[in-house]
Amino acid sequence: MTESVSQGPISTVTPTNGEEGTKFKRKQVEAGVRMILQGLGVDLEDENFKETPARVARAYYELCSGLYSAEKKTEEIFGKSFFSDYRGMIVVGPVQATGVCPHHLLPVKSTVVMGYIPKERKLGLSKLARAIKLYLAKPVMQESASHALVEAFQSYVQPDGVALYIQAKHGCMTDRGVLQHNCEASTMDVRGLFKDDSGVKTEFTEQVRLLLRRS
Ligand SMILES: [Zn+2]
Repeated sequence: MTESVSQGPISTVTPTNGEEGTKFKRKQVEAGVRMILQGLGVDLEDENFKETPARVARAYYELCSGLYSAEKKTEEIFGKSFFSDYRGMIVVGPVQATGVCPHHLLPVKSTVVMGYIPKERKLGLSKLARAIKLYLAKPVMQESASHALVEAFQSYVQPDGVALYIQAKHGCMTDRGVLQHNCEASTMDVRGLFKDDSGVKTEFTEQVRLLLRRS
């Protein structure tokens, strides 16, 4: 049986980033990239483009890795919370995360600050950073990723409050269309005490300001 998507130069670049066993269809992505290159009118035999379909496929696997392992990893990450008697605010950031916009598939580079006030369960700080990267590594609207992350965190860790600030540069605004190189979009999702207590919210926004000033 012949593989219908394998025309064109055969890739010699082997995947090394853990895509095996996932729903990621590398050959299909490579074939699509080959078509784009052909559509652009470039010479696929040129040595600069020969491995491009394979490279782009690997890059997109990475940029969208949150699509393939989200469920398993959410449990893996959020399921490992532990008891803590600390009742103050925990704020982590800036965490850098990259994904793509669902409309143009151009990179979205986010800087994130997340805060929560534990009720009983606490999460390791690096786990929080991993969760943030996972939720943003996919073709997703910034607001939707923010909502999904906050919802999952809320249901697994059940804190007294959670707040998520995302500031992102969208490739579709910086590198095409209106070409606003320094323009960023920010979203803030607040739940529990961060929503109900204005003092808590103010403290969080102050933490965001301090953490981002150093970055
Ligand atoms: Zn876009």
